[in-house]
Amino acid sequence: MRLAVVALALVPWLVACPAAQDTAAVDAGGGGDGPVAFAPPRGGTWAPDGGAVHFRVASERATRVEVWIYAAPRGEPARLSRTLARGADGDWRGAVTAAELAAAGVDTIYYGYRAWGPSWTYDAAWTPGSGLGFVARVTADGDRMNPNKLLLDPYAREVSHDPITPGSLDGTAYRTDDANRALDSGPIAPKAIVLPPAALTDGDLGPRPDRALADDVIYEVHLRGLTAGDAALPCAGTYAGAAARAAELAALGVTAVEFLPVQETGNDANDVDPASNSGDNYWGYSTLAFFAPDRRYACDRAPGGPTREWRAMVKAFHDHGVKVLIDVVYNHTAEGGGGSLLSLRGLDNAAYYQLSSNGLGFYDSTGIGANTNARHRLFRDLVIDSLAAWHRDLGVDGFRFDLAPVLANGCDRGCFRWDPGDPDGVLQRAARELPARPGDGGAGVDLIAEPWAIGNGTYRVGQFPAGWAEWNDQFRDLVRQDINLVGVVDVTLGGLADRLVGSPGIFRAGGRPPAASVNFVVAHDGFTLADLHACNGKNNGQAWPYGPSSGGSDNNYGWDFGGDPVRQRQAARTSLALTMLAAGVPMMVGGDEVLRSQRCNNNAYNLDSVATWLDPAAATRQAAFRTFTQRLLGFRAAHPALRRRGWHDAASLTWLGTDGLPLPDAFFHDPGAHFLAWRIAGTAAPDEPARAIYVAYNGATTTVAATLPAPTAGAAWYVVADTGAWFEDHSNFYAPGAEYRMNGRRYDVGARALAIFIER
Ligand code: CA
Repeated sequence: MRLAVVALALVPWLVACPAAQDTAAVDAGGGGDGPVAFAPPRGGTWAPDGGAVHFRVASERATRVEVWIYAAPRGEPARLSRTLARGADGDWRGAVTAAELAAAGVDTIYYGYRAWGPSWTYDAAWTPGSGLGFVARVTADGDRMNPNKLLLDPYAREVSHDPITPGSLDGTAYRTDDANRALDSGPIAPKAIVLPPAALTDGDLGPRPDRALADDVIYEVHLRGLTAGDAALPCAGTYAGAAARAAELAALGVTAVEFLPVQETGNDANDVDPASNSGDNYWGYSTLAFFAPDRRYACDRAPGGPTREWRAMVKAFHDHGVKVLIDVVYNHTAEGGGGSLLSLRGLDNAAYYQLSSNGLGFYDSTGIGANTNARHRLFRDLVIDSLAAWHRDLGVDGFRFDLAPVLANGCDRGCFRWDPGDPDGVLQRAARELPARPGDGGAGVDLIAEPWAIGNGTYRVGQFPAGWAEWNDQFRDLVRQDINLVGVVDVTLGGLADRLVGSPGIFRAGGRPPAASVNFVVAHDGFTLADLHACNGKNNGQAWPYGPSSGGSDNNYGWDFGGDPVRQRQAARTSLALTMLAAGVPMMVGGDEVLRSQRCNNNAYNLDSVATWLDPAAATRQAAFRTFTQRLLGFRAAHPALRRRGWHDAASLTWLGTDGLPLPDAFFHDPGAHFLAWRIAGTAAPDEPARAIYVAYNGATTTVAATLPAPTAGAAWYVVADTGAWFEDHSNFYAPGAEYRMNGRRYDVGARALAIFIER
């Protein structure tokens, strides 16, 4: 970074903007074909010929917008500023030439916007730190412009630093109360970085997997937590570190990693006191910039480093056939529900946030303070444009949307109204424009909703439109109850059977396939798999590094099996097996393959510590459980009948009782019945490796003697797996090809255990 031309830095000067142009004429150079039209996208973008940087930002309510350019991320006044002009489409545009930047001593371009509007009118005598022009902190139309607050470009491709960093822990400058509204945030505020022209096209992203979502096994994991605990790994806890795990995860049988939020969030301060969670934001559900890969997760944190390293990581996963999905948080932002101005709130508060009825506050279905405004064109554009950029430029194969019903809120102010069918809304536009990947696979993106938010009619499981899959909390809760709470909570075999075939009771009426159901028993949000079967309730108040954490659900359906680790492991295997055998899309959590524990903390959002990082030594310690997991995933991959695209029918799947005969209807409704077996015909997909699959699940507290259905003439049943504790010394799963041939049809299934058989 150059630090020359210091004299120019002292007084930023205003340069009159030329007439607004929707496209800039750019000389293609050398070809003799004359100028080519360059239509600058939103954000800060170099023209293809490198002659100028173009800035474009959207605000309907602003009356004046300036871009301010800095030569350093912090601690310096601006070197340049320029007034933007409103174009015919309402967007604000301006440009600065390379020569001007060079003359001002700007090498890497750090920039932000200052905006005026009804809440703060323009006064030619205003300078940073002045109160001239102030009207109101907020107007009845929701305007909150304040030119003393430097605003991050919503389309920033990289961000210089977090609002709160180890070098700057005081957020006062972002506040707009009477005492702070004239305080200039420019010297400390996070700034957008203009990437060099080729930053998004240098190198390739590897072959994009185009497999159907129905064929995926999703592995939900925190990008940093995946490797932060591995002291022997170079760049542990970063994109480069995660890339080093691609081969190992592929070998485990994972086909899609799903990273917890990686878009820029305020996590720099996690490092301030490594032995404290005070103010820590580990999970990252608080997005500051929707286009930018988080700088903290990069090993190379120089400008352009996060982008380069992210792309290289995606290539590593793609080279191993593994999709990269990311968890995206568009329901609220890092600006929360208060008056601090970081970006969107100062540009056009009413466009990007859902206001309260009187316009002075916000409406909230997220628990954070302010919903984003799913009704507004500018917010919808921000969502779709950033998703498209992550897919196109950063290679992402799919998205999991946090508290997704907020994105289908058809209410203008002060309420929630579920409106998934709006053709211009986020749900429909995402499926149409990105577009959603076809059910049989192909180009596109996987769209997965967390189909609930907090209160006020936001629980919408099963109600998302075509092209969307959903986290199925009813699979989660029912399997938990059946394995942990038999005799305490009534679960019927009918309910269980519905979950095991893709939850047609939830998804089929909407014309959606089994793959609409993402089946899981645990997610980042709650117990780990090991803790689910080792904890009677949450313990979030414990000391660092396993706590303390606030919140956390009180309805975990956990049980510690009397403290017996043998029975705990058996239950964990059974849970995982039900997840992987069910129709739909299975999801597991990173570390569950080695029984990762958070010691009963079920809300570790703030623990950037060994409590949440994967332990590289666990693979040795839990080798048997890991082998079980690997063979289970391999079994699902080997048997298309488990991954059927359509719904099962009587020809493809038969429910059976202990006698090997079709289960009488009465059993489906009897909460006292706990044994459920099913036979999937090998023709169901069709399934080349097996003529049929038979699974016997015993949810009871005592062993059950089961009789298998008669095998087809000339064939025999082979034992593939048994989650019972007695079989641990064989990792509970025979190696493929080494399955055990049965002599008869009788098989004892232990309590809360499950056995798998194939016919051949
Ligand atoms: Ca960050």
